[in-house]
Amino acid sequence: MPDSTPDSTPASTPPLTPPLDLAADIVTLTAAICDIASVSGDEATLADAVEAALRTGTALQVERHGNVVVARTDLGRAERVLLAGHLDTVPLTDPPNLPTRLDGDQLWGRGTVDMKGGVAVQLRLAATVAQPRRDVTYVFYDNEEVESSKNGLGHLARSHPHLLAADFAVLLEPTNAQVEGGCKGTLRVEVEVPGKAAHSGRPWAGDNAVHKTGALLTKLAEHQARVVDVDGLTYHEGLSAVGIRGGTAGNVIPDRCVLTVNYRFAPDRSEQEALAFVRDFFAGYPVTVTDSAPGARPGLDRQAARDFIRDLDVPVTAKEGWTDVARFAQFGVPAVNFGPGDPMLAHKEDERVPITQLRDAEAALLRWLG
Ligand SMILES: [Zn+2]
Repeated sequence: MPDSTPDSTPASTPPLTPPLDLAADIVTLTAAICDIASVSGDEATLADAVEAALRTGTALQVERHGNVVVARTDLGRAERVLLAGHLDTVPLTDPPNLPTRLDGDQLWGRGTVDMKGGVAVQLRLAATVAQPRRDVTYVFYDNEEVESSKNGLGHLARSHPHLLAADFAVLLEPTNAQVEGGCKGTLRVEVEVPGKAAHSGRPWAGDNAVHKTGALLTKLAEHQARVVDVDGLTYHEGLSAVGIRGGTAGNVIPDRCVLTVNYRFAPDRSEQEALAFVRDFFAGYPVTVTDSAPGARPGLDRQAARDFIRDLDVPVTAKEGWTDVARFAQFGVPAVNFGPGDPMLAHKEDERVPITQLRDAEAALLRWLG
């Protein structure tokens, strides 16, 4: 709202962005961060506020790249850990679900779950843990809720990869303050089944590609997907037909049928190994990749991760979906998801977080870093 003036602006939304007070308690800080609206593509004001608060309120080395803010300790510790969170949210509702409001033990409003509670926890740790047991890199990035090509973490990985170097990373996406380790990779392919066109009145003159695809569908339906243990967590793979198309007219034997298949693979396999498996599964048919992203190992065999699990003392499960933790995998950095908020409420109009989860998440990470 660049043209606001003090006279025309309601008292609850001051014209200038107030500085973020990192000494405030976690609930107040979460509310303040949420109240600086930052829908994807519009994160500059919040990135400014985060950068300013880190520069004035901490002794960290602060860098700004676009709307990505990185703050680091450089204490010469034996290990470095990285805490990351995105600054953007999905659009507000109509009427807007901001400013935030505190109702009983819940903080309501856009971003309270996904994921400004996690961002507030990062900022509290940055401000209060001056001498962490491990060196820490805090990353705040933009454009997570939109297409992958805009993702600030992806941009940073390409432009300043050294800033993502770490022994272990925590992404503070909402997990109900439980640990969800690593993530599965995803591969999408199109499998082409060739045939021969003919008039459907004389089907013996052709070769029906749709009929032939039936054998592949049966093979898929009967396939027993792998259940894989990686670093102590159990991942359930999936190999599924997610689309099919074929046929040109109601009186023509189809000369081609294309099956779209999605393979969700455990993080013990690379993208290349996942593709090799799929090509072997559909041997004899052309396979074209349309989308591919690696998984991420949870890295629970690392000391930093073991201490993390011990100090947090919360349930640990495998992340079955795909998240930005996979962006760390390409640098060999194992990563887990841990943050306040119920992921089922992310992006919902009644987005809200129990304030106990905000406090518990802050306290848990403080036990680990402090
Ligand atoms: Zn998120």
